Amino acid sequence: MESTDFSQADFSPIDCPSGADGADAESYYLAGRDFFKGDAPEKCVISHSEAVADKGKALKLCAEVMRGAHAALDLEYAQVVNHLACTGRPSPCGVGCSACCKQAILSNPFEAVLIARHLAQSSERADLFWGNFGRWDARTRELRATFPNWAARMVLHGDDDGSFAHGAFTEPCPFLVDERCLAYAVRPYGCRSYLALSDACRTPTEPGKIPGRQGVGVGMSSGFHQRRQQLLGLLWGLFGVSAARTRGHFLPDLVKLALVKDIDALLGQCIVPEPL
Ligand code: SF4
Repeated sequence: MESTDFSQADFSPIDCPSGADGADAESYYLAGRDFFKGDAPEKCVISHSEAVADKGKALKLCAEVMRGAHAALDLEYAQVVNHLACTGRPSPCGVGCSACCKQAILSNPFEAVLIARHLAQSSERADLFWGNFGRWDARTRELRATFPNWAARMVLHGDDDGSFAHGAFTEPCPFLVDERCLAYAVRPYGCRSYLALSDACRTPTEPGKIPGRQGVGVGMSSGFHQRRQQLLGLLWGLFGVSAARTRGHFLPDLVKLALVKDIDALLGQCIVPEPL
């Protein structure tokens, strides 16, 4: 495969401005946003060989695509929130509730780079993240150690053997400071898509239910998720990786690797190795 482009999803091609990072970034943002419209899509192309020659630059452009995708999801999310409010069932989601931020949040290298860039713009934000990361890392290490094999089995065989206990993961996300998200503007799909339908999300009324996990994923309910998977397939293709051999990984780990610019490890964390 020599190149990956968004026209694979019925895009009408237009040229992508090259040169300054800023112009590239804007084009890629628009491509990501318009991917979900399907009506007036724009196309940006970076070849496979260009991407592997400069993975850092390619990842930044992919991060912009994700930012555009987030904008499309936000529109969809707002429509659902409005509909609920108009039908007398307003969502309780809002400032001051962080019930859904105490679980394992999985992400991908593209979203991680977007967040790392956001953190890098403010030393205060970055310091807060690093301060929390150490605590999160130490307290979740044992549980996280069970994840790679579990996830590999899931990807290769669709087999959930229960060895990774998602429900046991209750440590606050390291981006959470004073009940607010340090990375709110660039938070990943999993956080962005989540919507509580009632107060039972924060304070479950049924025995055995865990706070922050009783809502819905807007993207999952609307078809957005499926289309997003298609978009991720295109982005992974830039790096010569089949999306079928990839999986999400813990967001804080990925952001850490993005911040220290260990690009191969960042991509590698989400790739399931070939079975021996
Ligand atoms: S990234 Fe932000 S919204 Fe998502 S779990 Fe962490 S603190 Fe919450």
